[in-house]
Amino acid sequence: MHHFHYSGNRLYCEGVAVESLIRKYGTPLYVYSQRTLTERYQALAQALAGVDSLICFAVKSNSNLAVLRALADLGSGFDIVSGGELERVIAAGGDPRRCAFAGVGKTESEIEFALRRGIYTFNAESEPELERINRVAARLKRRAPVAVRVNPNVEARTHKKITTGTYENKFGIAFEQIEGVYARAARLKHLWLRGLQMHIGSQITEVAPFEQAVRKVRPLVARLKERHGLEFFSIGGGLGIVYQPALASGPAAWWRSSAARGMITPQQYAARLQPLLQPLGLKILLEPGRFISGNAGLLVTRIEYVKRTGRKNFLIVDAAMNDLIRPAFYEAYHEIVPVRRRAGAQIRADVVGPICESGDFFCQDRPLPKAEAGDYLALLSAGAYASVMASNYNTRSLAAEVMVKGRQAALVRARQPVKAIWAGEQIAPWQR
Ligand SMILES: *Cc1c(COP(=O)(O)O)cnc(C)c1O
Repeated sequence: MHHFHYSGNRLYCEGVAVESLIRKYGTPLYVYSQRTLTERYQALAQALAGVDSLICFAVKSNSNLAVLRALADLGSGFDIVSGGELERVIAAGGDPRRCAFAGVGKTESEIEFALRRGIYTFNAESEPELERINRVAARLKRRAPVAVRVNPNVEARTHKKITTGTYENKFGIAFEQIEGVYARAARLKHLWLRGLQMHIGSQITEVAPFEQAVRKVRPLVARLKERHGLEFFSIGGGLGIVYQPALASGPAAWWRSSAARGMITPQQYAARLQPLLQPLGLKILLEPGRFISGNAGLLVTRIEYVKRTGRKNFLIVDAAMNDLIRPAFYEAYHEIVPVRRRAGAQIRADVVGPICESGDFFCQDRPLPKAEAGDYLALLSAGAYASVMASNYNTRSLAAEVMVKGRQAALVRARQPVKAIWAGEQIAPWQR
């Protein structure tokens, strides 16, 4: 569920009219709903109440400090993929002891920093990495908590750029090799074999691939627990979301309609997985990113020009692929709605940004309400893998971000001043 809706003809985030945010903060503007983040987290936590679990929000999906703080206040842990993300979590008031460090390329200094901060686990992706973690831990005279990421080789049936659990990609260690890896790792004196981890992909819309992976890995994790005294099993993230969300419905109706459209719900996810996980007697970690943050944000943009060529209509807006790259990168769909609804005809149009790339579009040939220059549009479900992937391409400033809670709104990221873009650059001495 989420808390964006129309009241009359005006789009609201919780109790705040999006138009009032535009007047105050300008566009392009990311708007987040704290209530949506909260309810999403709680829906998952409640569904999984039958197992001892820790939800580690995937920071890479949305790392704004205010988003992290909202989740930290609920007791969330964090799935991090860099030393920078760990610093962010700490800056936001999150607990390092609830952090799981993922990723194939952890550097020595990242490992040292995370070890000193006392993170919950390093989720290692190769034997050289285990050896490196062992070396750093030895130097610091500590034992490093580790899990190995198993690649279960199951098909997640999602977009190829976000499939991670098959032998075609760089992630994890092959299922067949895992026991040998744990046996060798057990001889590394500065490692504490704390868990086993997997993550099969992202935007997975049905329970079946998760169930298949858990069924396959369950006997393995039980054996490893027996042999090495593991404490947890992380089943990763990847729960999908609706990218064409209805703009009004209560939580119960929302999950019913999601289920009716074949979209995974926390209730189904828990109902199918909990019975498989309970008998293991392990702490279960989850690493949801998109599921928590995806529907909790939107990107507001202003129509600068309406351009009609011989064959097409273009709405040229002030946001671009540097602000939201998902359509260009993943062929992703984002619902686009007017900030102020008007009666009138529809047109088919491409919504495009000002960047000099033909890939700079948010939709193509889509039926949209007729609009004029000066109108505002909102791209929905822009809370995950959206602002975090923004760049300064074309020397465009990073957009401002606002958090809403009830009737309150606060700027949680100032619009980047254009000079800040080249602040770290300088002319070479011989050019002066
Ligand atoms: C990206 C990632 C996640 C989060 O994925 P979502 O699809 O956003 O839930 C979780 N775990 C790992 C290891 C990841 O790389």
